[in-house]
Amino acid sequence: MVEGADTIGGGCRSEELTLPGFVHDTCSTVHALALASPFLGSLPLAEQGLELVHPGVPLAHPLDDGSAVILERSVEETARGLGSDAAAYTKLVGPLVRDAKKLFPDILAPLRPPRHPLVLSRFGLSGIRSAAGLVGRFEGDRARALLAGCCAHSMLSLREPLSAAFGLVLAVSAHGVGWPVARGGSQRLADALASHLESLGGTVEAGRTVASLDELAGASTILADVTPRQLLEMAPGGLPAGYGRRLRRYRYGPGVFKLDWALDGPIPWAAPEVARAGTVHLGGTLEEIMASEDAASSGRHSDRPYVLLVQPSLLDATRAPEGKHTAWAYCHVPHGSTGDMASAIEAQVERFAPGFKELVIGRSAMGPAEVERHNPNYVGGDINGGVQDWRQLFTRPVLRAVPYSTPVPGLFICSSSTPPGGGVHGMCGYWAARAALRAGS
Ligand SMILES: Cc1cc2nc3c(=O)[nH]c(=O)nc-3n(C[C@H](O)[C@H](O)[C@H](O)COP(=O)(O)OP(=O)(O)OC[C@H]3O[C@@H](n4cnc5c(N)ncnc54)[C@H](O)[C@@H]3O)c2cc1C
Repeated sequence: MVEGADTIGGGCRSEELTLPGFVHDTCSTVHALALASPFLGSLPLAEQGLELVHPGVPLAHPLDDGSAVILERSVEETARGLGSDAAAYTKLVGPLVRDAKKLFPDILAPLRPPRHPLVLSRFGLSGIRSAAGLVGRFEGDRARALLAGCCAHSMLSLREPLSAAFGLVLAVSAHGVGWPVARGGSQRLADALASHLESLGGTVEAGRTVASLDELAGASTILADVTPRQLLEMAPGGLPAGYGRRLRRYRYGPGVFKLDWALDGPIPWAAPEVARAGTVHLGGTLEEIMASEDAASSGRHSDRPYVLLVQPSLLDATRAPEGKHTAWAYCHVPHGSTGDMASAIEAQVERFAPGFKELVIGRSAMGPAEVERHNPNYVGGDINGGVQDWRQLFTRPVLRAVPYSTPVPGLFICSSSTPPGGGVHGMCGYWAARAALRAGS
């Protein structure tokens, strides 16, 4: 394996971004998809030192009245917090959670005949909708806000078809497998994968950026963990014209603006139960979250952005010196935005945790350009390797019977720009490797 950065891991790395002794995950922290992944689940990563730690509850969504909606591991307990929407929530999510083990292998895959068509159809009937349409079945603000926050991970307008699917996958994974973090930082997951590869005879070379595929001329098979734009740049004589033209039409989506904090203490949530959660969605009501996501996907910045926040040190003491804490938060911004969202993000935290700002003793800020500098796969700050809307989710990077293959013999693409898309699940690489083996590469 060849890696351009000095450390391996890509979107799964940890660094001291703020102060000495504070370990921050540069990108991903919450490894629900790693647990849901049939491929990662088949590897002996615990033997390679990986320990996943679960928070008391996967998710909290505080509201302006000082309360919080809590997504518990149990569907029933979660539903109890949703008042008159309890039955509707259980009806929507309960059967999918029961069948989660059948559902994940079918959705973490390219388009193919499903193994469990009935389970997938049940998911698809709701998932194909827009988030706004999906939450229409709820009458109360609490259930609407909870689902809207989950759907907003899609980085789509919540009025777009399929935005509901992302929320459902997140809710089902929260109940079905949990939303853990890696003790010691996400780097441990990448390191465990590298150790396993080495135990099988593979080699890992970091600090070597591949500018041209010519540099790999001796290799009979290349799995390129890059997005279409990079693949075009790396192909010396150009790719076959039709394929190259279609790759150039590939669309990238909104970016992220991320803050990492070193904190003098835990975040003082107005609703104390929020401290039980690993992940916190800040954005208030469905309407507010919808406005924020509409803004990011139509080239504007929201004054009150929907913010995803993770507080790993609450469940993993190795992340910060004794008594201190770490947290990160990001919001969605227009593709390639140069706007500074630090104050807007901190204002959203302060809104639900008065006194938060006084605890900040170190801060790192990354807009889309810095995010892309850390990892060239995040073009314009897009952390999903390209828009994941209905036109591109299954046809990424181009519509092709085997999307991982290219017209160049032995060259495959295996990044999140292929199905099933963004997230730390290893399934893009798994399917690309299978395609390569089938092609006899
Ligand atoms: C702030 C943030 C938070 C996130 N949170 C989560 C989360 O909590 N849970 C989750 O599941 N996902 C999360 N993600 C998304 C997740 O990190 C990505 O979807 C995932 O890492 C994409 O995997 P990938 O294999 O496509 O590429 P990457 O993980 O990006 O890896 C690509 C690698 O290829 C290297 N590379 C690229 N070009 C070259 C070249 N020319 N030569 C050599 N090496 C090269 C890069 O340096 C990089 O290491 C988050 C992302 C960000 C940025």
